[in-house]
Amino acid sequence: MSRPDAVRGEDLVRSYAQGEGAVHALAGVSMRIPHGAWVAITGSSGSGKSTLLNLLGCLDRPTSGHLAIDGNDVAALDDAGLARLRNRHLGFVFQQFHLLSRTSAEENVALPLVYAGVARPERLARAREALDRVGLADRRTHWPSQLSGGQQQRVAIARALVTRPTLLLADEPTGALDSRTSEEILDLFADLHRQGATVVMVTHDPAVAARASRRLVLADGRIASDDGSLS
Ligand code: ADP
Ligand code: MG
Repeated sequence: MSRPDAVRGEDLVRSYAQGEGAVHALAGVSMRIPHGAWVAITGSSGSGKSTLLNLLGCLDRPTSGHLAIDGNDVAALDDAGLARLRNRHLGFVFQQFHLLSRTSAEENVALPLVYAGVARPERLARAREALDRVGLADRRTHWPSQLSGGQQQRVAIARALVTRPTLLLADEPTGALDSRTSEEILDLFADLHRQGATVVMVTHDPAVAARASRRLVLADGRIASDDGSLS
């Protein structure tokens, strides 16, 4: 049997009650993301980008439709199962880094392995390996406040990689960085993509989206265009 897609979504709807009616943040989205893709999700404010990323990240569940992450049917999992799926299959990168202050780079990176039940010596070895991968081997004992914005985002990317996730999810990962630092972070994503990582990135910036291998545009909770839907 061939390996399942990293993401398979069928007719995904996410509605919120509003007054008497409902607002459809996602109004029926279907997509397949094969392993090894680098997808940029774009669209104007309110088009449903964050809602979709939250579903892919198993931080939220669809109101209706089917979603499978690496062949795991999300609807079949209870909250503990979803948490396990997140920890084992997904890595998250955020605009604001979300690192623990007064905590070294390597302890920040090792944190997801605490939840995965990995013993401390192996946690630290893998954290160092992940920091090495993002070019920060010489900064492992620094606190976030002792690092530049670009370096902090590299630590956050190392933290996302340390569990060896199936899928790397990023919400405006360059949104808090100047343009030169943004390019360096995108170069890092490009390296990871070349090495086989699967990346889904939300961005409002066309220059960021241009670096991805596929662009999926949302409008009013639907896919308005997808330049790689058959890949
Ligand atoms: P984007 O990230 O593209 O700006 P969102 O996914 O945040 O868009 O939101 C899509 C739509 O769903 C918007 O109209 C937004 O107001 C609505 N929405 C998002 N979250 C909620 C919520 N918790 N309650 C009600 N409406 C929401
Ligand atoms: Mg958003």
